Amino acid sequence: PICYLNGDYQPLDEACVPVLDRGFIFGDGVYEVIPVYAGKPFRLDHHLERLNDSLNNIYLANPLSDEQWTRIIQQVIMHNAEGDQSIYLQVTRGVAKRDHGFPGETRPTVFVMSNPFSAVDTKLLEEGVGAITLEDIRWQYCHIKSIALLPNILLRQQALNAGAAEAILLKADKVTEGAASNVFAVLDGKLVTPPKGECLLPGITRDLVVELADKHDIACEQRDISREELLHAAEIWITSSTREILPVTHLDGHPVGDGLPGPLWQKMYAIYQDHKNELRQA
Ligand code: PLP
Repeated sequence: PICYLNGDYQPLDEACVPVLDRGFIFGDGVYEVIPVYAGKPFRLDHHLERLNDSLNNIYLANPLSDEQWTRIIQQVIMHNAEGDQSIYLQVTRGVAKRDHGFPGETRPTVFVMSNPFSAVDTKLLEEGVGAITLEDIRWQYCHIKSIALLPNILLRQQALNAGAAEAILLKADKVTEGAASNVFAVLDGKLVTPPKGECLLPGITRDLVVELADKHDIACEQRDISREELLHAAEIWITSSTREILPVTHLDGHPVGDGLPGPLWQKMYAIYQDHKNELRQA
Protein backbone atom coordinates (compact mmCIF):
# COMPACT_ATOMS: atom_id res chain seq x y z
CA PRO A 1 0.00 0.00 0.00
CA ILE A 2 1.03 3.57 -0.75
CA CYS A 3 0.56 6.28 1.87
CA TYR A 4 1.12 10.03 2.05
CA LEU A 5 3.50 11.50 4.60
CA ASN A 6 4.47 15.18 4.72
CA GLY A 7 4.33 15.80 0.97
CA ASP A 8 5.51 12.41 -0.30
CA TYR A 9 3.72 9.31 -1.53
CA GLN A 10 5.59 6.20 -0.40
CA PRO A 11 5.13 2.53 0.55
CA LEU A 12 3.40 2.30 3.92
CA ASP A 13 6.01 -0.06 5.38
CA GLU A 14 8.77 2.44 4.55
CA ALA A 15 7.04 5.51 5.98
CA CYS A 16 8.73 6.74 9.17
CA VAL A 17 8.08 9.46 11.70
CA PRO A 18 10.81 10.68 14.10
CA VAL A 19 10.48 9.44 17.68
CA LEU A 20 10.17 13.03 18.92
CA ASP A 21 6.94 13.50 16.98
CA ARG A 22 4.41 14.86 19.48
CA GLY A 23 1.93 12.29 18.25
CA PHE A 24 4.27 9.54 19.48
CA ILE A 25 5.36 11.33 22.65
CA PHE A 26 2.08 12.92 23.80
CA GLY A 27 -0.73 11.68 21.54
CA ASP A 28 -0.87 15.36 20.49
CA GLY A 29 -2.90 15.10 17.32
CA VAL A 30 -6.26 14.42 15.69
CA TYR A 31 -7.53 12.05 13.02
CA GLU A 32 -10.36 11.06 10.69
CA VAL A 33 -11.56 7.79 9.16
CA ILE A 34 -13.40 8.17 5.85
CA PRO A 35 -15.08 5.28 4.02
CA VAL A 36 -14.53 5.13 0.26
CA TYR A 37 -17.10 3.37 -1.93
CA ALA A 38 -16.25 2.62 -5.57
CA GLY A 39 -13.34 5.05 -5.32
CA LYS A 40 -15.51 7.87 -3.95
CA PRO A 41 -14.96 9.21 -0.43
CA PHE A 42 -18.26 9.12 1.48
CA ARG A 43 -19.34 12.44 3.00
CA LEU A 44 -15.86 13.89 2.60
CA ASP A 45 -17.04 17.46 3.21
CA HIS A 46 -18.44 16.44 6.62
CA HIS A 47 -15.18 14.69 7.55
CA LEU A 48 -13.06 17.68 6.50
CA GLU A 49 -15.31 19.99 8.49
CA ARG A 50 -14.99 17.78 11.60
CA LEU A 51 -11.21 17.61 11.08
CA ASN A 52 -11.13 21.39 11.01
CA ASP A 53 -13.18 21.54 14.23
CA SER A 54 -10.85 19.03 15.94
CA LEU A 55 -7.79 21.06 14.85
CA ASN A 56 -9.35 24.32 16.05
CA ASN A 57 -10.14 22.71 19.40
CA ILE A 58 -6.48 21.78 19.92
CA TYR A 59 -5.21 25.16 18.63
CA LEU A 60 -3.44 23.64 15.64
CA ALA A 61 -3.80 25.48 12.33
CA ASN A 62 -5.06 23.25 9.52
CA PRO A 63 -1.89 22.63 7.48
CA LEU A 64 -3.86 22.08 4.25
CA SER A 65 -6.83 23.59 2.45
CA ASP A 66 -9.89 21.42 1.75
CA GLU A 67 -8.81 21.33 -1.91
CA GLN A 68 -5.35 20.05 -0.92
CA TRP A 69 -6.85 17.44 1.42
CA THR A 70 -9.21 16.31 -1.32
CA ARG A 71 -6.39 15.98 -3.85
CA ILE A 72 -4.16 14.00 -1.47
CA ILE A 73 -7.02 11.69 -0.47
CA GLN A 74 -7.83 11.09 -4.14
CA GLN A 75 -4.18 10.29 -4.87
CA VAL A 76 -4.00 7.82 -1.99
CA ILE A 77 -7.24 6.18 -3.18
CA MET A 78 -5.85 5.93 -6.73
CA HIS A 79 -2.60 4.37 -5.51
CA ASN A 80 -4.50 1.69 -3.62
CA ALA A 81 -7.33 -0.78 -4.16
CA GLU A 82 -9.98 -0.38 -6.86
CA GLY A 83 -12.73 -1.43 -4.51
CA ASP A 84 -14.01 -0.08 -1.24
CA GLN A 85 -11.45 1.18 1.23
CA SER A 86 -11.22 3.41 4.24
CA ILE A 87 -8.97 6.42 4.43
CA TYR A 88 -7.22 7.10 7.74
CA LEU A 89 -5.66 10.53 8.13
CA GLN A 90 -3.93 12.14 11.04
CA VAL A 91 -2.31 15.45 11.88
CA THR A 92 0.05 15.86 14.83
CA ARG A 93 1.74 18.95 16.23
CA GLY A 94 5.00 17.78 14.67
CA VAL A 95 8.52 17.02 15.85
CA ALA A 96 9.99 19.01 18.73
CA LYS A 97 12.07 18.64 21.88
CA ARG A 98 9.86 16.98 24.50
CA ASP A 99 8.10 19.73 26.37
CA HIS A 100 4.40 20.00 27.19
CA GLY A 101 4.00 23.59 25.96
CA PHE A 102 3.33 24.06 22.26
CA PRO A 103 6.54 24.27 20.21
CA GLY A 104 7.18 27.51 18.33
CA GLU A 105 7.81 26.94 14.66
CA THR A 106 7.12 23.26 14.21
CA ARG A 107 5.64 21.87 11.02
CA PRO A 108 2.66 19.56 11.69
CA THR A 109 3.04 15.94 10.64
CA VAL A 110 0.45 14.96 8.02
CA PHE A 111 -0.20 11.30 7.33
CA VAL A 112 -2.81 9.61 5.11
CA MET A 113 -3.19 5.88 4.46
CA SER A 114 -5.78 3.56 2.97
CA ASN A 115 -7.03 0.29 4.42
CA PRO A 116 -9.20 -2.28 2.64
CA PHE A 117 -12.81 -1.79 3.68
CA SER A 118 -14.15 -5.14 4.75
CA ALA A 119 -17.91 -5.36 4.37
CA VAL A 120 -19.73 -5.92 7.62
CA ASP A 121 -20.04 -9.67 8.30
CA THR A 122 -23.54 -10.88 7.32
CA LYS A 123 -23.67 -12.95 10.49
CA LEU A 124 -23.53 -9.73 12.51
CA LEU A 125 -26.40 -8.31 10.46
CA GLU A 126 -28.48 -11.45 10.93
CA GLU A 127 -27.80 -11.93 14.62
CA GLY A 128 -26.69 -8.54 15.84
CA VAL A 129 -23.86 -8.01 18.30
CA GLY A 130 -23.47 -7.99 22.06
CA ALA A 131 -22.54 -4.89 24.04
CA ILE A 132 -21.82 -4.22 27.69
CA THR A 133 -22.43 -1.02 29.61
CA LEU A 134 -19.40 0.60 31.23
CA GLU A 135 -18.74 3.82 33.09
CA ASP A 136 -17.47 6.50 30.69
CA ILE A 137 -14.00 7.06 32.16
CA ARG A 138 -12.83 9.41 29.38
CA TRP A 139 -12.10 13.13 29.52
CA GLN A 140 -14.37 16.16 29.09
CA TYR A 141 -13.59 16.84 25.40
CA CYS A 142 -14.86 13.75 23.65
CA HIS A 143 -16.12 15.88 20.73
CA ILE A 144 -12.48 16.18 19.62
CA LYS A 145 -11.35 13.26 17.44
CA SER A 146 -8.08 12.89 19.35
CA ILE A 147 -5.51 10.21 18.48
CA ALA A 148 -5.04 9.69 22.24
CA LEU A 149 -7.39 6.72 22.51
CA LEU A 150 -6.08 4.83 25.52
CA PRO A 151 -9.39 5.02 27.46
CA ASN A 152 -11.36 3.94 24.37
CA ILE A 153 -8.94 1.06 23.82
CA LEU A 154 -9.23 -0.13 27.43
CA LEU A 155 -13.03 0.10 27.30
CA ARG A 156 -13.26 -1.75 23.98
CA GLN A 157 -10.93 -4.47 25.25
CA GLN A 158 -13.05 -4.88 28.36
CA ALA A 159 -16.03 -5.45 26.07
CA LEU A 160 -14.09 -7.95 23.94
CA ASN A 161 -12.92 -9.80 27.06
CA ALA A 162 -16.59 -10.11 28.05
CA GLY A 163 -17.39 -11.63 24.64
CA ALA A 164 -19.12 -8.44 23.45
CA ALA A 165 -18.42 -6.30 20.38
CA GLU A 166 -18.75 -2.86 21.94
CA ALA A 167 -18.84 -0.98 25.24
CA ILE A 168 -21.77 1.42 25.60
CA LEU A 169 -20.65 4.21 27.91
CA LEU A 170 -22.62 5.93 30.64
CA LYS A 171 -21.75 9.19 32.30
CA ALA A 172 -23.82 10.23 35.34
CA ASP A 173 -26.27 7.48 34.36
CA LYS A 174 -26.77 8.81 30.84
CA VAL A 175 -25.61 7.18 27.61
CA THR A 176 -22.82 9.08 25.89
CA GLU A 177 -21.65 6.80 23.05
CA GLY A 178 -19.78 3.56 22.33
CA ALA A 179 -16.01 3.10 22.70
CA ALA A 180 -15.78 3.73 18.92
CA SER A 181 -19.37 4.34 17.83
CA ASN A 182 -22.49 6.39 18.48
CA VAL A 183 -25.60 4.90 20.05
CA PHE A 184 -29.26 4.90 19.03
CA ALA A 185 -32.14 3.33 20.95
CA VAL A 186 -35.79 2.72 20.10
CA LEU A 187 -37.86 3.95 23.06
CA ASP A 188 -41.65 3.93 22.97
CA GLY A 189 -41.51 3.31 19.23
CA LYS A 190 -39.31 6.35 18.66
CA LEU A 191 -35.70 6.52 17.58
CA VAL A 192 -33.57 8.37 20.15
CA THR A 193 -29.90 9.36 20.19
CA PRO A 194 -28.00 11.50 22.71
CA PRO A 195 -27.59 15.17 21.76
CA LYS A 196 -24.26 16.40 20.45
CA GLY A 197 -21.97 18.12 22.92
CA GLU A 198 -18.58 17.73 24.55
CA CYS A 199 -19.41 14.25 25.93
CA LEU A 200 -19.42 12.50 22.57
CA LEU A 201 -17.98 12.52 19.08
CA PRO A 202 -20.32 14.06 16.50
CA GLY A 203 -20.35 10.93 14.34
CA ILE A 204 -20.73 11.39 10.61
CA THR A 205 -22.78 8.17 10.49
CA ARG A 206 -24.90 9.39 13.42
CA ASP A 207 -25.69 12.60 11.58
CA LEU A 208 -26.52 10.67 8.40
CA VAL A 209 -28.92 8.36 10.28
CA VAL A 210 -30.64 11.41 11.81
CA GLU A 211 -30.83 12.98 8.33
CA LEU A 212 -32.20 9.80 6.70
CA ALA A 213 -34.75 9.34 9.50
CA ASP A 214 -35.99 12.87 8.87
CA LYS A 215 -36.15 12.30 5.11
CA HIS A 216 -38.15 9.08 5.54
CA ASP A 217 -40.54 10.39 8.21
CA ILE A 218 -39.09 8.25 10.98
CA ALA A 219 -39.48 10.12 14.25
CA CYS A 220 -36.05 10.72 15.77
CA GLU A 221 -35.33 12.60 18.97
CA GLN A 222 -31.95 13.89 20.09
CA ARG A 223 -32.14 13.74 23.87
CA ASP A 224 -30.50 12.06 26.85
CA ILE A 225 -31.01 8.32 27.32
CA SER A 226 -30.93 7.08 30.92
CA ARG A 227 -29.45 3.73 31.93
CA GLU A 228 -32.96 2.56 32.81
CA GLU A 229 -34.26 3.47 29.34
CA LEU A 230 -31.32 1.76 27.65
CA LEU A 231 -31.88 -1.45 29.64
CA HIS A 232 -35.51 -1.56 28.48
CA ALA A 233 -35.04 -0.32 24.90
CA ALA A 234 -36.88 -2.24 22.16
CA GLU A 235 -33.83 -1.82 19.91
CA ILE A 236 -30.27 -0.55 20.31
CA TRP A 237 -27.98 0.32 17.40
CA ILE A 238 -24.37 1.41 17.19
CA THR A 239 -23.13 3.49 14.26
CA SER A 240 -19.72 4.24 12.81
CA SER A 241 -18.11 4.84 9.44
CA THR A 242 -16.62 1.35 9.28
CA ARG A 243 -19.36 -0.64 11.03
CA GLU A 244 -22.21 1.38 9.50
CA ILE A 245 -25.36 0.60 11.55
CA LEU A 246 -25.17 -2.52 13.70
CA PRO A 247 -28.01 -3.90 15.79
CA VAL A 248 -27.09 -4.61 19.41
CA THR A 249 -29.16 -7.66 20.31
CA HIS A 250 -27.63 -8.41 23.70
CA LEU A 251 -26.81 -5.91 26.42
CA ASP A 252 -24.95 -7.02 29.53
CA GLY A 253 -25.84 -10.58 28.61
CA HIS A 254 -29.61 -9.97 28.35
CA PRO A 255 -31.55 -9.91 25.08
CA VAL A 256 -32.53 -6.50 23.72
CA GLY A 257 -36.23 -6.76 22.77
CA ASP A 258 -36.65 -10.30 21.48
CA GLY A 259 -32.89 -10.68 21.00
CA LEU A 260 -33.00 -10.25 17.21
CA PRO A 261 -32.31 -7.23 14.96
CA GLY A 262 -35.45 -5.09 15.21
CA PRO A 263 -37.85 -3.86 12.51
CA LEU A 264 -36.76 -0.22 12.69
CA TRP A 265 -33.13 -1.28 12.30
CA GLN A 266 -34.09 -3.38 9.24
CA LYS A 267 -35.76 -0.35 7.73
CA MET A 268 -32.95 2.09 8.48
CA TYR A 269 -30.28 -0.34 7.34
CA ALA A 270 -32.02 -0.72 3.96
CA ILE A 271 -32.37 3.08 3.63
CA TYR A 272 -28.67 3.49 4.46
CA GLN A 273 -27.60 0.89 1.89
CA ASP A 274 -29.79 2.52 -0.79
CA HIS A 275 -28.20 5.87 0.02
CA LYS A 276 -24.70 4.36 -0.32
CA ASN A 277 -25.60 2.69 -3.61
CA GLU A 278 -26.88 5.96 -5.04
CA LEU A 279 -23.45 7.43 -4.33
CA ARG A 280 -21.71 4.44 -5.87
CA GLN A 281 -23.64 4.92 -9.10
CA ALA A 282 -23.50 8.72 -9.14
N1 PLP B 1 -17.59 7.82 18.67
C1 PLP B 1 -16.31 7.45 18.77
C2 PLP B 1 -15.62 7.54 20.09
C3 PLP B 1 -15.61 6.97 17.62
O1 PLP B 1 -14.33 6.62 17.71
C4 PLP B 1 -16.32 6.89 16.39
C5 PLP B 1 -15.66 6.41 15.16
O2 PLP B 1 -14.84 5.54 15.15
C6 PLP B 1 -17.65 7.26 16.34
C7 PLP B 1 -18.26 7.75 17.50
C8 PLP B 1 -18.44 7.19 15.05
O3 PLP B 1 -18.09 8.27 14.20
P1 PLP B 1 -18.21 8.17 12.63
O4 PLP B 1 -19.62 7.81 12.33
O5 PLP B 1 -17.85 9.53 12.15
O6 PLP B 1 -17.27 7.10 12.17
